Amino acid sequence: MELEPESTNQRAIVPTTFIYHSIAAPWTVQRIYEYWRDSTNLESHFGVGFDGSIGQFIGTQTRADANMYANNYAISLESASNLNHTDPWTEAQIETLIAVGVWAHKHPAHKIPLKIATSATSGGFGTHRMFSAWSDGGTACPGNARQEQFLTRVFPGIVSRVNGTTLPPTPSTPVVDLSELMKAAYTDPPKNGTPVSYPSAKVVESALNKEGLLDASLVDGHFGTSTIGAYAAWQRRLGYHGSDADGIPGNTSLTKLGNKYGFRVIP
Ligand SMILES: [Zn+2]
Repeated sequence: MELEPESTNQRAIVPTTFIYHSIAAPWTVQRIYEYWRDSTNLESHFGVGFDGSIGQFIGTQTRADANMYANNYAISLESASNLNHTDPWTEAQIETLIAVGVWAHKHPAHKIPLKIATSATSGGFGTHRMFSAWSDGGTACPGNARQEQFLTRVFPGIVSRVNGTTLPPTPSTPVVDLSELMKAAYTDPPKNGTPVSYPSAKVVESALNKEGLLDASLVDGHFGTSTIGAYAAWQRRLGYHGSDADGIPGNTSLTKLGNKYGFRVIP
């Protein structure tokens, strides 16, 4: 899906770095291509849909413009996401992100070093949000869930595949994003049977259930009145009183719950 005139006009590069992005839109590869073609000149080399399909829009020895100062030394990949790029990559996306990373490492003209970038210019693999030089004044791309997956799944997956080893299937520790959870607690809870605003609320509900504070039938992902009541009981159990035990999760109480029942908290 070659973009012109960018492919012809933009300078040649020798990439040392591979940067993963989330595009903050639930788009197919075709739609990503049309966006680059019609709406902006800030394109990336690759685009990946939710189903793991991949498109290429510009040659990897030609500059693409999604990474500010890194444009002259980076291969970039955009991936479909929700509108706030707070969702995790799908399993199919992770598979493609690993496969293209292996390709970029093995490609004789690229040989992207098998390490996580330690600075904007160190070379290696990274995500857009890691260095301010890669974005115009900071970015939330990708969101916390995908940053976690980059560190625990994508990059280790590239390494193990390059080295011909298979990672033992690690039971992945659930991750709960505190800000997403608080939003879910503050907004009117959707009714049973409607989509939940933050699916990982269920992880917390499950912990509250094991703690004996929430009935199993209410472990449904809706952070509603019953869950808030159960969470307030957890806060009181920790010694909080009054408005400190209002059922809205805070970092300390949630981390304690996670430490006890096996989930990690992103503040
Ligand atoms: Zn980005």
